[in-house]
Amino acid sequence: MTARILIVEDEEPLTLLLRYNLEAEGYEVETSARGDEAEIRLKESPPDLLVLDWMLPGMSGIELCRRLRARAATERMPIIMLTARGEESERVRGLSTGADDYIVKPFSVPELLARIRSLLRRARPERVASVLGAGDLELNREKKRVSRAGREVHLGPTEFRLLEFLMQSPGRVYTREQLLDGVWGREIYIDERTVDVHVGRLRRALNRGRASDPIRTVRGAGYSFDERFGKTA
Ligand code: CA
Repeated sequence: MTARILIVEDEEPLTLLLRYNLEAEGYEVETSARGDEAEIRLKESPPDLLVLDWMLPGMSGIELCRRLRARAATERMPIIMLTARGEESERVRGLSTGADDYIVKPFSVPELLARIRSLLRRARPERVASVLGAGDLELNREKKRVSRAGREVHLGPTEFRLLEFLMQSPGRVYTREQLLDGVWGREIYIDERTVDVHVGRLRRALNRGRASDPIRTVRGAGYSFDERFGKTA
């Protein structure tokens, strides 16, 4: 069963970006651009997780969050707050109103996705796959282990995160920049060629003597996890 996420955000481009990425991850997405409208919807049918902007027309995210926590039906609903950069006191207030987590704009989408997964895992462990599999390859998120044809594959932490990131969206092509952003984090400034080095290491560890390579190089674009991997004879 898939998780339902409500995004309450009045910046339409951001709402569209989040909807696109969350749907690509398999979530069911609803959106609202006003705090007061969101409150009515939340009373009618509470989602599994709420992504809530701080500054909203109708009612602020803070106020909405406070009200949700005061009601039994939404008292424990996972809430991630979106806040503007740099206002430390506001961040603290955000958490004291009862948000489970906050993320500062501008943020990287993969980072938000990771926070969403971790909150959902806490709230509803059965809804987030802890094991990703394709063909003879298996990645266990909790145990941080990878195996191929039943044998353990030893990966460094960066190669593990890289594989996990690619396996989450088979067939989707990521540029080196997107991979740096999603796997290394946007605060770290390293050369894009570093991505090639780590993809090379990942491939060597995964493929040892095997013909089939789950990682696809897309010339002029970047890399993806081959969605046909393990599906063709
Ligand atoms: Ca706003």
